[in-house]
Order: sequence, then structure tokens, then C-alpha cells
Amino acid sequence: MNMDSIQPFKLERPATVAEAAALLAAQPQARLVAGGTDLIPNLRRGIERPTVLVDLGAVAGFDAIVASDEGTWIGAGARLARLATDSALAARHPAIAQAAAVIAGPGHRSVATVGGNLCLDTRCVFYNQSEWWRASNSYCLKRGGDVCHVAPQGGRCHAAFSGDLAPALLALEAEVELVSTRGARRIPLADMYRDDGAAALTIERDEVLARVLVPARAAGRACAYRKARARGAVDFPLAGVGCAVALDAQGRLAALRVALTGTNSQPIVISGTDALLGRAVDDALLAALGKLVQKQVSPMRTTVTQSNYRRQVAAVTAQRLLKELAAGPAK
Ligand SMILES: Cc1cc2nc3c(=O)[nH]c(=O)nc-3n(C[C@H](O)[C@H](O)[C@H](O)COP(=O)(O)OP(=O)(O)OC[C@H]3O[C@@H](n4cnc5c(N)ncnc54)[C@H](O)[C@@H]3O)c2cc1C
Ligand code: SF4
Repeated sequence: MNMDSIQPFKLERPATVAEAAALLAAQPQARLVAGGTDLIPNLRRGIERPTVLVDLGAVAGFDAIVASDEGTWIGAGARLARLATDSALAARHPAIAQAAAVIAGPGHRSVATVGGNLCLDTRCVFYNQSEWWRASNSYCLKRGGDVCHVAPQGGRCHAAFSGDLAPALLALEAEVELVSTRGARRIPLADMYRDDGAAALTIERDEVLARVLVPARAAGRACAYRKARARGAVDFPLAGVGCAVALDAQGRLAALRVALTGTNSQPIVISGTDALLGRAVDDALLAALGKLVQKQVSPMRTTVTQSNYRRQVAAVTAQRLLKELAAGPAK
């Protein structure tokens, strides 16, 4: 991997989220940095060239995890290592701890944050490259070029959203709080994304993701996260699945939410699962879920792994997770 030196920048260290938002509002070239495990490699590759970095590392209380009547609030500054090992959180929402535990490596997780993971740039084998590599290939539509090397006839970027936390949180119907100089607003996490690899986040340039709410109603759901990856460790998901389930007294599906990452330009919640409610989790139901997933994922040639494999592994991973969750904890 070829890494270049980083362009000079000014570093700001706000003490509050409001100060961070004010710095973003005042300086259009400013970018937020949290753990820096995604942004810094992108700076070294010349993919991004901000003149001001607003470091969130000194924001007081930014990493708080607080249980309330509404649910569990997770500060955007909470480190992934803590998420992976917080036993109270893992008992309530195992999918979150499971997702955090399989992100990057232990060193990354000790500094990487929830906010950085949810606001991760999309990825593509033609994009996550050094400056000279991208220049030799005339750049691409996402940055500096005219053509998408993945789908040259189309006019959009298909880079894949590959953050692991989003599907776990989406399965649990999480919401996010965004702060700017205009105030705070709360939106479903699902609304924070759009299907565009070049601009996958809907949040405004001057907004800070302050915290995430996992609603109280999600606490009654059995949930899990699993990813398929080329290597067994330190690797982005080829497909990652978050699944949350409730069964009625007869063992029939009472609630089901399945979300995916790694296959589309945004993390997606699989639609059509309501039609499966009231049924037993048997082979026919699992086949129906597999079809829903296969239809709604759209992996493109953004990784060295074939798209069709990613489509199939997404469906099979979702089927296995649901089957295991419906069977209950291993006796
Ligand atoms: C070798 C390697 C392997 C990796 N493997 C994985 C993996 O398996 N799964 C995975 O999901 N990721 C992986 N990553 C990417 C990255 O380490 C993680 O996604 C990490 O969680 C990013 O968090 P961060 O705090 O370091 O983000 P940063 O790099 O600090 O920021 C990432 C982006 O989010 C923005 N941002 C940060 N905080 C906020 C906020 N509060 N509000 C608004 N915007 C914000 C930044 O401006 C930037 O655009 C890997 C990275 C490396 C280098
Ligand atoms: S999908 Fe196309 S435009 Fe987007 S990063 Fe890859 S090559 Fe570039």
C-alpha cells in the first residue's frame, strides 16, 4: 500500500459538540476527525485535502453510554473497543457488541469511534488507492475523473458502504442526534444514508453526529450481527448482516428486521419482511427471506471478490442468523 505525506492542515480541538459545529459552520474546508482510522489513510492517499481538521477527541462526555426511559444513548465518541466489551450493552443488544468486535483490528478499535464508523466513506477498489495509482488510471467519477470504472455507462458512483455498526443499529431501529449551529435534530439512522457512493450521507456538511439512540422497544428483541469477509480478521465486510427478531408464544415470527452492509452504497433495511410475520421459522420462510435479500442487494465490481458471491453470501448469512436466533441460545 503506497501512502503519501499528508498536506498541511490546521488542527482545532473543541471542548464541546456545539464548538465543533461552530468550527464547521465557520470554515467550509473543515472536516471532523474522531479516531482517524478511516480519514487519516484517506488523507495520506490524497483522497481528501481538508485545510482544517476538527478533532473530536477532547469533547467532554462525547463517549457516554447512558440508559434512559427512551432506550440506550450511545455517544458518537464511544470507542469500538468499549462497545465490544461493555457487558451491560452486550446483554441488552448483543448485535452491537458483536459488530464492534469484528471491526478492523484491536489497535484500530482502541481509538475508532461509533460516529466515525457510521459516517465512514464508501469504498471501492478503484478509489481506496494511492494518488499515483488513481492518477495512472485517470481517477474516477467519485473524485477527480469523469468515468466510473465499475459501471462506465452509468452516471453515478457505486462505491459500497462497508461500516459494520450500521446494520446492527438499523436492525434495532436506532435514531441519531445531529447537532449544528441551527440546533439539534433527531432522525432515524436509516435516513442518514442515501444510495449514492459519492455522497452516501444525507447529513449536512456542518452537522456533527452527537449520539445514537437504541430505542427501548428494541431491548426485547433477540439480535445478532455477522459478516462475511475475505480474511478472518482486520477486513471490511463483503456482506454484513444485522438481524433482530421476536417470536410469539407459539414460536412464530412476531417481529423481524434485517439490515445489510457491504453490498450497496448505503446500509439497507430489507423491505418485505412484514409479510413473513405470523409464520414459523422453517425452510420455506428462510427461502423467502433469502429471495428478499438477493433482490435488494446490488453488489457491484467494487471489490476483488465477485459480485455474485457477495449477493449469495448476504442471503445465506441472513438466513443463518435468523435460523439461529429463532432457535434461541445454545443449550
Ligand atoms: C486496516 C483497516 C481495516 C478496517 N476494517 C474495518 C472493518 O472491518 N469494518 C469497518 O466498519 N471499518 C473498518 N475500517 C475503517 C475504520 O477503522 C472504522 O470504520 C472506524 O470505526 C472509523 O472510526 P474513526 O473514529 O476512526 O473515524 P474517522 O476516521 O475519524 O472518521 C471517519 C469519517 O467520519 C467522519 N466523522 C467522524 N466522527 C463524526 C461525527 N461525530 N459526526 C460526523 N462525522 C464524523 C469523519 O469526518 C470522516 O469522514 C478499517 C480501517 C483500516 C485502516
Ligand atoms: S464505483 Fe466508480 S466512481 Fe465510485 S469509486 Fe468506484 S470507480 Fe470510482
